[in-house]
Amino acid sequence: MIVQVDPKATVSQLDAIKDAIKAIDYKATEVRTQRGFYLVAIGKKDFDIRSIGHLEGVLDVHRVSDAYKLVSKKWKVGYSEIDLGDGVKVGGDELALMAGPCSIEGEEQIVQVLTHLKSQGVRVMRGGVFKPRTSPYSFQGTGMDGLKLWHQHAKALGIKIISEVMSVQDIGPMYDYIDIYQVGARNSQNFDLLRELGHVDKAVLIKRGMSGTIEDLLQSAEYVFSGGNERLMLCERGIRTYEQAYRNTLDINAVPLLKEKSHLPVIVDPSHGIGIRRFVEQVALAGVAAGGDGLIFEVHAVPEKAWSDGQQTLNFAESKRLIHKARRLFSFCRALEGEFPLDEEPA
Ligand code: PEP
Ligand code: MN
Repeated sequence: MIVQVDPKATVSQLDAIKDAIKAIDYKATEVRTQRGFYLVAIGKKDFDIRSIGHLEGVLDVHRVSDAYKLVSKKWKVGYSEIDLGDGVKVGGDELALMAGPCSIEGEEQIVQVLTHLKSQGVRVMRGGVFKPRTSPYSFQGTGMDGLKLWHQHAKALGIKIISEVMSVQDIGPMYDYIDIYQVGARNSQNFDLLRELGHVDKAVLIKRGMSGTIEDLLQSAEYVFSGGNERLMLCERGIRTYEQAYRNTLDINAVPLLKEKSHLPVIVDPSHGIGIRRFVEQVALAGVAAGGDGLIFEVHAVPEKAWSDGQQTLNFAESKRLIHKARRLFSFCRALEGEFPLDEEPA
């Protein structure tokens, strides 16, 4: 059960609400986020929702039977939108586009990519400065120096930054230089990291783990939300299957399912999803058609020379074509959905 509490409720009102929850043998956890105050109550008994709903200080009560609660669609009308400031939004009526190299390499590369994104009206640049590499001998990222340099150039152009945070100790140092913390596939169930990101007032994108289920991803998001941060988005980036013909199996099925199960924006990563440059566009468009709120993909001036993931990175011409098609397709899908809504019987 989720009890939405008036943030201005008095201490005695709050005590009365908690007592009523205890009386039906439910255990409540207090969650205060940027947008609301919730009591998430876990219990087994059936109860009359009015026994809590009528109490002073209660805004609303919702029964949520899912294992995850606050990220569930069951208690919220409509979908969540994340405002990154300066008119940049994720979720809602515009396709969110985030693009950039796998790794930040240096000033020339940063400027080249930023110039490309600016020319295409893309407002969020991706790039790793702390890289989770399978081999300890591979390039590990330019770290905070790379991030600071990148931030300086991006800020001047009004472009927001998303970058992967690999450990709790990097959350603080990165804070002033990024707009979205990315939790990578390998850290999707790093609960210490997720819990800490719940205490931060910055957006978080959580990637699905390599062998993570949809429910695992939602539970990971629940960690962040219940820690106090509801500026969250989910990312489908492919899972590991027996198939060897491509890097990962982008699970298109996850997109409509996540949209049904959760109110959070869903972002599709076709680059890691298939891992093969010449197919990134088609797979990205499939993600948009499946109902994704946005795309995150890799782009570099010369993919062949990229320091990591060049094999799945688009050049600027390919990126431009994808951006154009993805925007058109998104508008078309939304218009079609308006004409023939999914939740209505076809005439
Ligand atoms: C990345 O975004 O470059 C990355 C390492 O992604 P993932 O965590 O999905 O592998
Ligand atoms: Mn990459």
